[in-house]
Amino acid sequence: TTFAKLGINTTLQSNIKRLGYKKPTYIQEKSIGAVLSGTDTYAIAPTGTGKTAAYLLPILQELSQTDHSEDQVRPIRALFLVPTRELAQQVEESIGQYGKGLKLRTISIFGGVRIQSQVNRFKRGTDIIVATPKRLIDLMKIKAISLNDIQFFVMDEADRLVSMGIYHELKNILAAMPKKAQKVLFSATDSKTLNKFNQEHLNRVKIVKG
Ligand code: AMP
Repeated sequence: TTFAKLGINTTLQSNIKRLGYKKPTYIQEKSIGAVLSGTDTYAIAPTGTGKTAAYLLPILQELSQTDHSEDQVRPIRALFLVPTRELAQQVEESIGQYGKGLKLRTISIFGGVRIQSQVNRFKRGTDIIVATPKRLIDLMKIKAISLNDIQFFVMDEADRLVSMGIYHELKNILAAMPKKAQKVLFSATDSKTLNKFNQEHLNRVKIVKG
């Protein structure tokens, strides 16, 4: 199949063409339509299979469909939760590449840098945040960020996220966003913990296997 047939628009198509992608990978073929349809999605896909684009392409497309003027303070509409700082930086870079020309703002937050510098960056608003869990929770506690307007919530490497000893914090993150937010989980492996988490927090989930 092609990205066009999966419903990916021409701006995103030309961005990925520039990166040399000729056709969707298997997991992209399975996931893009599911995510675009608005359903909660649980995808089991190891790193290296194209999983990042599998969730970024449909979500960036959906986000870009609402126009936000340049000067307005933007509400955070998408949250990408990742286990490590390195992955946060990679996802931010991928957003820059896939989302070229879409005029979306992205901020990534992770530990190891001064929290105040991250607080200041939120004053202008952003469409997207890419975050590691602990720093996200710290910023929520001091009310530097609000998840009230979240439409898309992704857990990348969800198997690692649920085994970080932060199960309770993950629940608090979910509780801070609207119930109707679309949830998308990508995981290298399936697990009991993840299935329990999904039962508790996802709605009529579509399961996709890479
Ligand atoms: P990921 O599994 O997201 O870490 O992606 C693994 C690598 O595959 C990355 O270097 C991507 O740039 C690349 N990639 C993702 N989708 C495609 C595609 N459809 N065609 C070719 N390469 C891709």
